[in-house]
Amino acid sequence: MDKLSFIDDELARLASEGLLNPIREIGSAQGAWITVDGSRALNLCSNNYLGLADDRRLKDAAKKAIDEYGAGPAAVRSIAGSLTLHRELEEKLAAFKGAPAALSLQSGFMANIGVIPALAGEGDEIFSDELNHASIIDGCRLSKAKSTRYAHADPDDLATKLAASTANKKLVITDGVFSMDGDIAPLDKIVDAAEKHGAMVMVDDAHGEGVLGRGGRGIVEHFGLTGRVDVEVGTLSKAFGVVGGYIAGPQKLVTFLKQKARPFLFSSATTAADVAACIAAVEILGGSDELVKKLWDNARYFQDRMRGLGFDIGRTETPITPVMLGDAGLARRFSAELFQEGVFAQAIGFPTVPIRKARIRCMVSAAHTREDLEQAAGLFDRVRARVSA
Ligand SMILES: *Cc1c(COP(=O)(O)O)cnc(C)c1O
Repeated sequence: MDKLSFIDDELARLASEGLLNPIREIGSAQGAWITVDGSRALNLCSNNYLGLADDRRLKDAAKKAIDEYGAGPAAVRSIAGSLTLHRELEEKLAAFKGAPAALSLQSGFMANIGVIPALAGEGDEIFSDELNHASIIDGCRLSKAKSTRYAHADPDDLATKLAASTANKKLVITDGVFSMDGDIAPLDKIVDAAEKHGAMVMVDDAHGEGVLGRGGRGIVEHFGLTGRVDVEVGTLSKAFGVVGGYIAGPQKLVTFLKQKARPFLFSSATTAADVAACIAAVEILGGSDELVKKLWDNARYFQDRMRGLGFDIGRTETPITPVMLGDAGLARRFSAELFQEGVFAQAIGFPTVPIRKARIRCMVSAAHTREDLEQAAGLFDRVRARVSA
């Protein structure tokens, strides 16, 4: 008997429902143009907002760090110690975010599953936006706190639920920018509601840093809420162009997480190469807003072009550009045809987005040129005529 036959059944089900996601192979560095499954394609899939993933300065910093500190971290930081580079990164991140302190982790996912169970447990209640990222949902599951979902970006629904709670500690969690639609959480109103009910506020700024606020300092800066948000989670894997995550907030929060956050205690540190590249990225962003400006210029240009061509790009307020198609089959055919034309833009369907809300999500980057984006818009137009014929 094949004890793993349930896997065949599930894979067959996914395939028959069109939900099996074949993962493409990239044969080049990330950038505006990449090699996908052996052919050159215009890249609209990456979170490399500022084009830093292949930046010379980051690559040089990583190489230098390998020579000085070696390839691997050898253990968890709580036992073998932190590299000097980890401290430098954390100081630079805190300064960039306008927070007293920061703790870096292996990824944004790790940051969420580390911080949430440390902040809320038995007898506490977490209030989470219904469209929050999977890593927040998993962090809530790992916590022993009661978890309550409030309506998407709805501070009134949040306030009603907070008022009804009898929990000891209350923790409100929201994505800063919602990655599938590109809309921005009404963080000012969320903070007002939370303060009124004595709740802690945590924001996951994965798609906001490097994008929102002065010079890309993120959603807290964008809303002028410095000092009023208790916990900021971030990633170094998107606009910063490398890999890693972090938590920024009061010094005592960082001290506490070094004792309590399980991914910090039980999983090895990020490598010297990663950390050095992250430091270079934070320095670049701290020193100039040129890339952030280019990103927004590109986003406005592409979104104006797509709207002008009659495409529905939903409720985006950021460079994330969902091209709403509705039917999942149509979105998949559209994406496949785009790929034939040399544009890499992935279809996204249920369960990542609601049923009948399938879309192709385009990620605009500072690495794109006007010509790239003009070409992409033109190809969207051409493919639309073909797939709807
Ligand atoms: C991408 C993302 C993460 C995960 O970040 P990684 O560094 O890739 O693990 C967490 N939260 C949100 C909102 C994200 O979009």
